[in-house]
Amino acid sequence: MEKTLPPAGKLWLVGAGPGDPDLLTLRAARLLESADIVVHDGLVGEGVLALIPPHVERISVAKQRSRHTMKQDLINELLVRETRAGKQVVRLKGGDPFIFGRGGEELDAAREAGVVCEVVPGITAAAGCAAQAGLPLTHREDASAVSFVAGQCKDLTDQDWSGLAGHGRTLVIYMGLATATAIADKLIADGVSPGLPVAVVERGTTADARVMRSLLTDLGDLVAREKVQSPALIIVGKVAARADALDCLGTPGVAAQIRDFT
Ligand code: SAH
Repeated sequence: MEKTLPPAGKLWLVGAGPGDPDLLTLRAARLLESADIVVHDGLVGEGVLALIPPHVERISVAKQRSRHTMKQDLINELLVRETRAGKQVVRLKGGDPFIFGRGGEELDAAREAGVVCEVVPGITAAAGCAAQAGLPLTHREDASAVSFVAGQCKDLTDQDWSGLAGHGRTLVIYMGLATATAIADKLIADGVSPGLPVAVVERGTTADARVMRSLLTDLGDLVAREKVQSPALIIVGKVAARADALDCLGTPGVAAQIRDFT
């Protein structure tokens, strides 16, 4: 008698981009159509979720008021289990799966379990938010290096950011709203000019995005004054002066300073 092979499942770690569904890759859009199940997090925009056909099973592992975010090992187990069951599993993540997305951990889990996995890149928030703000992250005159850092770390003072911000460099901070004041203090203590321009982009690439501009010394106050909401990105460096943004300067006189940078 002929043996029936189990159906071949596959896991796809897919970047959903920064919010605007038009910024999905063609491959991501195709996979949403052909998936058996989509497992997504809270950062994935509504417009992107709307592209998932109704017959495709959808599981959210986003933070909800009633419960905490699903633990990473439970997510890994879910992905492996569903793929082993022979399904085409799309793990849909905001931005790019490998930029602060824990995609690396999910790929490790798939490899360990011997599950076939492919990664589909997405536009990361830094690229999307910079584009929205008309702010070139690198510029021949202003910045020849750019760094992405996570601002959410428990003990910021233990982080070595020396050399990441300042002359000729752009620093992009993900998840930095809660620690914005501490970040500015830390950079200034490390010798970065308090007068360096910063841009804050809230809900970048979406219809209700806000782009704000100020100086490093004002960063914490700006976030509080403008009641900036997550998701938001902070960009520190001379290029921030080029942002097409609302100037949100708390201190009189700094408007002139920011103009000096442009
Ligand atoms: N993998 C994602 C990042 C996940 S970390 C990526 O590549 O973009 C989550 C952080 O990303 C948020 O706290 C915020 O700092 C940033 N972020 C994601 N989408 C954003 C958006 N549309 N506008 C501003 N910041 C965003």
